[in-house]
Order: sequence, then C-alpha cells, then structure tokens
Amino acid sequence: MKPDVLIAGGGVAGSTLAILLGRAGLAVELFERDDFPREKACGEGLMPAGVAVLRRLGLVDGVGGMPFRGVRYHFRGRVVSGRFPAGAGPREGLAQRRVVLDRVLFEAAAGTAGVRARTKAMVEGPIVERGRVTGLMIDGAAHRAPLIVAADGVHSRIRRALGLDRALRRRRLGMRAHFRVADGFEASPWVDIYLGKGHELYVASLPRGELLVAALADAEPLHAPAEILFERWWHAQPLLAERLRGASRLTPVRGTFPLAGARSGTAPGVVLLGDAAGALDPIAGGGMTHALQGAELLARFASRGVAEADSWFPEFERGRAALLRDYATVTRGMLWLARHPGLVPPALGALRSWPTALSHLLGVAGGTRALFEFGPSRRLGGRI
Ligand SMILES: Cc1cc2nc3c(=O)[nH]c(=O)nc-3n(C[C@H](O)[C@H](O)[C@H](O)COP(=O)(O)OP(=O)(O)OC[C@H]3O[C@@H](n4cnc5c(N)ncnc54)[C@H](O)[C@@H]3O)c2cc1C
Repeated sequence: MKPDVLIAGGGVAGSTLAILLGRAGLAVELFERDDFPREKACGEGLMPAGVAVLRRLGLVDGVGGMPFRGVRYHFRGRVVSGRFPAGAGPREGLAQRRVVLDRVLFEAAAGTAGVRARTKAMVEGPIVERGRVTGLMIDGAAHRAPLIVAADGVHSRIRRALGLDRALRRRRLGMRAHFRVADGFEASPWVDIYLGKGHELYVASLPRGELLVAALADAEPLHAPAEILFERWWHAQPLLAERLRGASRLTPVRGTFPLAGARSGTAPGVVLLGDAAGALDPIAGGGMTHALQGAELLARFASRGVAEADSWFPEFERGRAALLRDYATVTRGMLWLARHPGLVPPALGALRSWPTALSHLLGVAGGTRALFEFGPSRRLGGRI
C-alpha cells in the first residue's frame, strides 16, 4: 500500500503521531534510526497534560511510572514546594525512564494497523522536488508520500537540510544520570529542583527504587568537562548528597548540546514535530508533553486529508502556537530568573507566601492552566 504519511523519528512525537494516524485509517511509515530500548537524555518528568494524552491513547498503564504531585525548589537552604493545581485534567505528573516510555510508544505504533514501523532506519535527508518536500532518503532508497513529518528530535537532520535551523541566543546543555538509592530511602512525591550558580539540578524518584538526576546549565562559562562539573554540583547540595549516599550508579552521564530552535515549523510538504520544530529550554519540563500534544493536534489535521496538507498548515501552526504560548512565557520567565540569581530569594520568598500563585504557575507549566485564567481553565478544558 502506498503510504499517506512518512515520519522520520520514532521518539515521543513520531510514535504518538503514527499511532493516531494509523487509528484514523491512514497508511503510515515510521523510520527510527536506533533500536529499542534506547536511552535519551531527559529529565523524565511527564507533566499532567502529557499524562492526559497517555490516558487518551490508552497507554498510561503500559508506561507506568512514579506519580509526582509538584515540585520543590531548593536554594541556599530554603525550600519552597508547590502542588499542581486541582481542576481540569490530572493533578499529578509521572516520572518514568525514557527507555520504558519510548519503547512502549514505539511498540504501540508498530502494533497499530496501517503503520509500518522500522528501527535501524536512518533518514539521510529530505527529497525536495520543485521547492516541495516529497519524500525521504533512507538507506540510499527514495520513499515518497503526500505528507512528510520530521520528528527527528532536537538536532533534526531534516530541519538542517531545509535551512530551518535557528541558533538559540542562550546556549544551554542538558545531562542526566540514574541511580538506585540505598535501602531505607523513601521515594519522593516531588520533583526536587536544586538551583545552583549557572545550573539547575532536577531529581525525580522513578519506579523500583531508581532516581534520576538531571542538570541544565549555561554552556558558555563551563571551566571543566561537563560530567565532572555535574558530579561536583550534586555533591555540593547537602540534601541531594545525602539522598545519594550509598546509592549505586545505573547509567553513565548522557547529555545533549546545544538545545536548538527552528525558524519555522512547516515548509511545503513537511511538518516539523516535537523538538524538531524547535526545542524550548527544558527548564519548565514540558518537552515531552508538547511532543504528545503536538502529535494529537497534527493527527486531527492530517486525518482531514493529506493530499491538500499545505492548505491546513497555517491553521495547524496557529493551534500549535496557542498550545505553547503560555508555557513559552513561563519558560522565558524562569530562564530570566536563572540569569539573575540575586532575584531568586525574593522570588521564592514571594511564592512561599503566595502558594496559590506557585500552584497556578505549575499548572501553566504542566499544561492544565492558562496563564491569565485563574482557576480551572475553560480554554484548556477541551484539550486536557
Ligand atoms: C536534559 C534534558 C532534560 C529534559 N527534561 C524533560 C522533562 O523533565 N520533561 C519533559 O517533558 N521534557 C524534558 N526534556 C525535553 C524532552 O526530552 C524532549 O522535548 C522530547 O524528548 C521531545 O520528543 P521528540 O519525539 O520530539 O524527540 P526525541 O524524543 O528526541 O525523538 C526523536 C527520535 O528521532 C530519532 N532520529 C533522530 N534522527 C534520526 C534520523 N536521521 N533518522 C531516523 N530517526 C532519527 C531519534 O533516535 C529519536 O528516537 C528534557 C530534555 C533534556 C535535554
């Protein structure tokens, strides 16, 4: 059968889209360069709106994970915690290893009628004919379809080949490692965020006594190899060092650099999806949620018809921008604060004395609240 849609990249965005398009009766080919299970550097915390997408997919039990109720900020001995707000949608996030989440999604895609999913299939680049992307080159062979989707991640080859890369003004890098905590340490219902100078550490309890430690940091002033600094940072946080006492290391440090953007999310014949469409800094923890929500949105448009796909691109882009707008504002605010550490104590002090504000902001980051709508959001209600 001739495919309707070719998808490059079988991560969160690509596999989710393949599942939804297959269920909508389209013929889909999904190409993933790696094999599963495979690792991906990530903070591994899925926000409540992302959990809602997994529920709609019917995959939340298959993914499993450790629920978390919000975040706890640590800064020079101060601790401020905030819960996700009550209202529309789930009130908890889920922390789960990417090796599990990505495998479950990819296997669900491969098992969906109408989807042909291949691993170890490296997409070499787009085929562009008369100014339009008409296919993909894979292992030296040309594959064509009316709609091409680039879900090939933050370093998207397709985006680069189409000249859509946009360097971010602030260069940041991300890293993570996993541990098994020693007996006697309880799992925490919070994602703990330790604010350091020029970096943040994110710590999440995972199933089976595992613990994730991730770091985001400014790339420019690093004066030693990132892995060495990463270890120094976690030893410099007494509460974290205590939590890691006697823990065994499960994975080596894995990182991503630089986090990059895109000039446009579409070009004739092709849609960029997930991180390929331009990764926002993960400081607010919503990347996987947006990959899932973006896939849902694109599936709604693509199931209307792929032959005239470009005609709905502008409307799709407006929908995607609306999904991201509030979250992007919160992300920019958090990055600004990270650049002005002198303002962190008063900001945390204000949030401690006004917990509903922190809870509201967490709802915005978690995708269940609109920024300027206090209380459960009517605007978001339909999509959580
Ligand atoms: C340090 C760090 C911490 C983060 N923390 C969080 C967090 O806590 N919560 C959160 O929600 N998000 C977090 N993120 C962001 C999150 O990881 C991404 O937003 C999310 O993975 C995007 O999904 P995706 O499907 O677009 O891309 P990916 O998950 O990267 O999937 C892309 C897929 O494309 C494949 N691929 C790439 N090139 C090719 C090719 N040429 N041919 C075929 N296949 C290809 C890759 O192998 C991969 O499987 C974090 C990111 C970093 C770096």
